[in-house]
Order: sequence, then C-alpha cells, then structure tokens
Amino acid sequence: MTTTPTVPALPDTAALQQLDAAHYLHPFTDHAALAQQGARVMVRGDGIYLWDSEGRKVLDAMSGLWCVNVGYGRRSITEAVARQMDTLPFYNSFFNTTTIPAVQLAAKLAQLAPPGFHHVFYTGSGSEANDTNVRMVRRYWDLQGQPERTVIISRRNAYHGSTMAGASLGGMTGMHVQGGLPIPGIVHIEQPHYLEHGAGMTAEEFGVHAASWLEERIRELGPDKVAAFIGEPVQGAGGVIIPPSTYWPEIGRICDKYDVLLIADEVITGFGRLGRWFASELYGIRPDLITFAKGVTSGYIPLGGVLVGDRVANVLRRGGDFNHGFTYSGHPVACAAALENIRILEEEGLVERVANDTGPYLKARFATLATHPLVGTADSAGFMAGLNLVKRKAATVHYQVRFDPVLRVGMLCRAHMFDNGIIMRAVGDRMIIAPPLVMTRAQIDEMVDRIRYCLDLTQAELK
Ligand code: PLP
Repeated sequence: MTTTPTVPALPDTAALQQLDAAHYLHPFTDHAALAQQGARVMVRGDGIYLWDSEGRKVLDAMSGLWCVNVGYGRRSITEAVARQMDTLPFYNSFFNTTTIPAVQLAAKLAQLAPPGFHHVFYTGSGSEANDTNVRMVRRYWDLQGQPERTVIISRRNAYHGSTMAGASLGGMTGMHVQGGLPIPGIVHIEQPHYLEHGAGMTAEEFGVHAASWLEERIRELGPDKVAAFIGEPVQGAGGVIIPPSTYWPEIGRICDKYDVLLIADEVITGFGRLGRWFASELYGIRPDLITFAKGVTSGYIPLGGVLVGDRVANVLRRGGDFNHGFTYSGHPVACAAALENIRILEEEGLVERVANDTGPYLKARFATLATHPLVGTADSAGFMAGLNLVKRKAATVHYQVRFDPVLRVGMLCRAHMFDNGIIMRAVGDRMIIAPPLVMTRAQIDEMVDRIRYCLDLTQAELK
C-alpha cells in the first residue's frame, strides 16, 4: 500500500473545535453534547488507520461510514481523480451527452453485477439512489398499464437514507418522528431479527415466518397496489442484523408469486463487503434493482446509483422520457475514482480474500469474544460483525438479560473504544464493525484484542 508521503503538522485542535461548535451543524448529532465534548478532528488516514489532530492513531473498524473498502491513502485514486479533474472536471449526462468515465464505469458495473443486469442509473449518494428507486418502480408500473401499483413495502429498523423518500423507506422511528414521515405510499413490516422476534423457533423456522409477514401485508394491501419490496441483504445501520438463511429465498418466492419488484439495497453490502461483489449472490436474492453507493468509490468521492435489471430497464428504455436525474448523475471525476477503486479491488483480489481468507478468519476470531462475560452473542457475515452486550448470559439467546437502556452501556463501551484507539459503532447495546477489506489477519488479531480490552474496561466501569 502506498503511504501518505508527508505527515501534516498538527493543527490547533482547540481552535478547530471552537469553530466547529460555532458554525458546523453535523449530521445525526446531539449538538449540546458535541459542544461540551468538542469534536474529534481527523486529519489523516493510511490503510485501516486514522490519525486525529492530537496525533493519536486509531484503528477504524467501521471503514469511515461502511465505505472505505480499499483503505485510506490510495495514491492511485488520488491520481485518477487529479487526471480527470485536469481533463474534464464536469460534464453532465442530460440532453444526449455523456462522458468517458461514466460510460466506462457503466460497462464495468454491468460486468460485475449479477446476471440480468446491464444498466445503471447514477446518483450522488445512496439516499438519492433510493429516491430514484421509488420514482423508477412507479414509472415502471405506469408504463406497464398498472399505475395503481405504487406502494413500496420496507421493514422496521431498516436504513435506506436520509432524504424524504430514503428516510421514509427506512424504518427508523427516530427519523420518522421528525418531519412527518413516512411519505404516503410506503409501509413497513417487521424486520427478520431472530433475537427480537424468534423466541420458540429455530432460526430457519423464523426466517420463513418473518418472510410470511411480507405475504400478509401484500394481501392486506391488495397485490395490485404493491409496486416493490425493498431490503438490505444484511441490515447495517440497524445493528448488523444477519437474516436466517431461509429468509431471502422465501421473500423471493413471495415477490414472484405476486409479481412484486424486489429492490436489494446494497449500499453497504456491495463491492465486496460480504465476499461477493454483491451480497444478493450470497443470499440467493434475485433483485430487479440494486442500490449502491459507498464501496463503489470507497468513499473517496461521493457516488451512488441503481443497477437496473433487464425487466425494468427494457420497459424504461421503451417508455420515452424518465423525468428524473441529478446534476451530478455520472459525475466524471466520481466515475474515474470508482474505476480506479474497482481496479484495486480486482488487482488485489480483495473480494475473494474476504470470501476465502480474512472473512472466515474474522468470523472465527470475532466469535471468541462471546466468551467475554459482557457478551451475549458475537456474529458476523463477511466483513460485517456485531456483538450484544448483556447483563446476564444464557445458553438460549432469547433468555439473556439485557441492561436497562437508561444505562446506555453501548455508549459507555463505544467511549472506551474511542479512547483506546479503535472505532466501533454502538446501536443500543449492540457493538458493530465493518472494517476495510484490506485488513490483514494480523490486524484482525489486533482489532479483536483491542475490543476485548475495551470490553474489560466497560465491565469494570459497570461494577
Ligand atoms: N442505504 C443503506 C443500506 C445505507 O446504509 C445508507 C447509508 O448508510 C444509505 C442507503 C444512504 O446512503 P447515503 O448516506 O450515501 O445517502
């Protein structure tokens, strides 16, 4: 890996924190708490590590926000971006024009996508891509002579973005209560969360049961009203919720039966995170549309989009104008970054490495954390993993005793991680990771050791 050649002089942290508190409204942030603590200023990254403005090194077990798949400090991406900036920093794809990187990336994505996908619609983010899905499936049914098919079914505790449609598709109550969401035409069923809802069943039985909630809802609404179902192959922001193996095949069967379009939101799971280019292949999902973002450029430059399967693309392409798009759809610099990012993933065999080497190794090492007195379960899929902090363990997961939520044990644990050189995210009392795909076996050992150490600190604080 190319390292960053010069280490910048450390900036004045206190001055930056003051400016930050005075002028910067952060996303998803309690600003009163932020003003009290002061933001941590990240200044540099290399591989799986970050350095803050105090010179402290941190292992980034979250890949930024689930996105820095090839790790930080990739000079070849910087160079690809600079070359494109010099040649053509911007042109759009409206009005019968295009650019070379946008075309080349579309062709590359068609090659990497599951069978039956030959087209892409570009956006600037995952949220915009899911907004695009809403408009696209409604347009599809309109063109098919079934304009009343408008409803999209999603799941509680899903995350599909932060725009009006993205947040509505998502199933986060905390988002819905701010701004009168969901918008009309989006409904939710329960998530396939074995620990929450699967007591008394095997995981496989529960998978089929959880899928049956989709069939129930389609029948309630009337199949002729339902346009699509959307789901993340593994729920990310909801807490790395890995569905039972029986769930997705059954969802596929139900969508086929009622002719409902299936959207796989692979914003997190795409581009190798689960050891496949797209996790749909891993779980036997046969989607009509695939949302992507994040890993397509490893977050170096914003880019998102929808991979459009032939069923939908053929209808749209015959259907005249689709009055939808963004200034930055197919941005040439973002597409150039994506092409180089994908080249790196291919050249270094990172997707295969997660499938056959580091993924299984992470699974085995992460599972050892379940022996810690605070940990109820520790599970993973590829390079996504999560562990539950519990007050009392039990052999049957459904009998484990949780902490009182007011104790905010997950946040205590997260703070210990942060103070001890590792970034892990807390979703309630579930601690989750999604490390860069370049993480080696030795670095997995380092990460698991640090997590264990911070679990010890958390336990000591709770006594
Ligand atoms: N979909 C999923 C599954 C996501 O995890 C995210 C972001 O975390 C989004 C959509 C939204 O993407 P963005 O933040 O790029 O708008």
